[in-house]
Amino acid sequence: MKSKVLVSACLMGLKVRYNGSEKAQLATMLTLLQAEQRLVIHCPELAAGLPTPRPPAEIVRADGNDVMQGRASIVEKSGHDVTAHYQLAAWLALRTALETGCNVALLTDGSPTCGSQFIYDGSFSGMRHPGMGVAAALLHQHGITVFSDQQFDEFCAWIEEKDKHEYSV
Ligand code: SF4
Repeated sequence: MKSKVLVSACLMGLKVRYNGSEKAQLATMLTLLQAEQRLVIHCPELAAGLPTPRPPAEIVRADGNDVMQGRASIVEKSGHDVTAHYQLAAWLALRTALETGCNVALLTDGSPTCGSQFIYDGSFSGMRHPGMGVAAALLHQHGITVFSDQQFDEFCAWIEEKDKHEYSV
């Protein structure tokens, strides 16, 4: 079976980001995969019941792996601890991926949930560092290949390679 892709809903033009915006720059390039019904469009934070708009949240001096293992927290700028909501978001992303047969994810970078190449450091000063958000980390732990929206070429090459294998078996 061809690879199915869990894709961040905001990358497909849905206005689900914390500030009510989207990041739809890749949507047209995913048209073919969408036509083949291989995209599973998902926003983990919305699935976990967070509203749009919502206060921005950051992982405090750690990454998504630390949060999922209970070693770090996610807070809003006010200091309000929203760790449990984001842990739920990660588990729901994993459940969605497993239930729909996704073996790869294309996620929006920088998010405390979907980030995979970088996240913000919890100071709400724009400082970022390498690391994964909670959903990206959990998907990765469970064998799902994760690409950020900044790695679109690598993502396409990965899909092409998998499809080639699909045709050759
Ligand atoms: Fe986009 Fe992911 Fe944030 Fe939802 S949780 S708005 S899909 S980056």
